[in-house]
Amino acid sequence: MREDLTVEIQNSLRGQGFLILKDGESFAVRVVLPAGKVTKDISDKLGDIAQRYGRGYFSLTQRLDVEIPFIKYEDIESVKKELLESNLIVGGTGRRVRSIHTCKGDVCRFGLINTEELTRDFTEKFYKKYYDTPLPNKFRITIAGCRNSCPKPQISDIGIAGRKKDMVAVFIGGMNGISQSTGTELEGIYTLQQAEKIVDNAIHFYKNSGEPGERFPKMVARLGVETVAKEILKNI
Ligand code: SF4
Repeated sequence: MREDLTVEIQNSLRGQGFLILKDGESFAVRVVLPAGKVTKDISDKLGDIAQRYGRGYFSLTQRLDVEIPFIKYEDIESVKKELLESNLIVGGTGRRVRSIHTCKGDVCRFGLINTEELTRDFTEKFYKKYYDTPLPNKFRITIAGCRNSCPKPQISDIGIAGRKKDMVAVFIGGMNGISQSTGTELEGIYTLQQAEKIVDNAIHFYKNSGEPGERFPKMVARLGVETVAKEILKNI
């Protein structure tokens, strides 16, 4: 346990993708992997960093990102620099749009939408674009290729699931964790362009109408799902 790693320092590092571990002195760096795709080059780089700065391994997160544990505080800047130089995304933490969670719908025989393409598109348009936009709390987007809902879009702040070829259902207000709620499916199905606009509207509405610390599903419950649905379906 290091006394010099104050709560302020820990919070600042968490916002940059470095999460303090239970030993109170080392960190796990989170690396966002759009659509969970790992090429040999990416795998080699992650393994190399784990070998030189950690304990020789990395692990997968629930949302198909990666964490490399046991990074020393003194090595954080070097690790960040090396990952960024390899075009990897460090982050996926804090009160902001989180990394986009999806399934293998681009190759799965049941997939009705190209989940990889949509996830990469959403990563650019929402995760990266709004990275410096503070929100009341974390905001999770999940994309499923079909009704089987493997990545569980119904328990995401906003979830998208294939219904017909390139047409999706949209769920709002789901979450899992200390509190749980199942998202409400909006009436109808939508094109991918409409779904993108709905997500964008939802982020803006949450930014302006959520209370500090309030999760999106709590805001939906407070304001009413009809009110929120009406707002986020505007101009789609
Ligand atoms: S949600 Fe559907 S498309 Fe995605 S992995 Fe599951 S079965 Fe396949």
